[in-house]
Amino acid sequence: MTAVSASHLSKKYAKVQALKDVSLDVSEGDIFGIIGPDGAGKSTLFRILTTLLLADEGTATVNGLDVVHDYLKIRAQVGYMPGRFSLYQDLTVEENLTFFASVFNTTVQANYELIKDIYQQIEPFKTRRAGALSGGMKQKLALCCALIHKPSVLFLDEPTTGVDPVSRKEFWDMLKRLKKEGISILVSTPYMDEASLCDRIALIQEGLFLKTDTPQNIVKAFDRELWSVQSDHMSRLLTDLRMNTEVESCFAFGDAHHVTHKHTFLKEEALTSYLKNLGHSNIHIHQIQANIEDCFMRLSDTKSL
Ligand code: ADP
Repeated sequence: MTAVSASHLSKKYAKVQALKDVSLDVSEGDIFGIIGPDGAGKSTLFRILTTLLLADEGTATVNGLDVVHDYLKIRAQVGYMPGRFSLYQDLTVEENLTFFASVFNTTVQANYELIKDIYQQIEPFKTRRAGALSGGMKQKLALCCALIHKPSVLFLDEPTTGVDPVSRKEFWDMLKRLKKEGISILVSTPYMDEASLCDRIALIQEGLFLKTDTPQNIVKAFDRELWSVQSDHMSRLLTDLRMNTEVESCFAFGDAHHVTHKHTFLKEEALTSYLKNLGHSNIHIHQIQANIEDCFMRLSDTKSL
């Protein structure tokens, strides 16, 4: 069964084309990731699928229900954690949870089992105002609030943005547990390293899906040799590599530059001597496996050609 289905969705705000002909299918019980930078159109897509915004073109269903005609039914069946402002900052942890339960005509007790593991981590702070919680705790409370009416589909819009790495890992562990409960999850993130935690992903840029597949297949489909290049002058190295006529693309990735080249084989020695002649020292060049971010850069680069 398909939990969420979107077909050719487009949305424009004045002159900004926020979504362009986007289609997706989320299978029941899957974690589906929408991966892309700020402004890519993730929130717009989430707001359409959660019935809060009308698309200009295209159709979408959640649990087989149409987002336009059956919006009230959909709202009762989904949980939505928007990117910002989902909690009432002046209410305490406990009050926020009780409030969200009452909005859905239920009680915290009725569905406590589903949120127990997550809620127990913030329970010691239940009398603290939400506004005074740390990022990681806010995120856990927001997830509890989105789950309190036992939704079958969860929409999580950038739940880990601005959250520390430990809390981010804990959050993904929680999502895995919810998946085991049979909940389908659509989650967006700007962090490419979170892609591998999803069953399927769509890479989004400027409102367009660049690719939709499993993270493994996307990485497998990277159609070039990829090389890591380092030297003592990393910022100048970027410019010098891009000036090299053999180099096809070069992007800065943490402590190395990732390079693809125009020929079948990289002429490693030729590149080394080219860099030495330009005054680089401590040159390290080795072949590496592409990750999702490399794929994203390559796909967006190809798109702009
Ligand atoms: P993301 O969630 O990936 O950051 P958004 O869906 O929020 O992306 O935004 C997509 C594009 O649409 C951006 O260029 C953003 O500035 C623009 N946008 C979003 N909401 C509005 C709005 N209400 N009015 C005008 N432009 C908007």
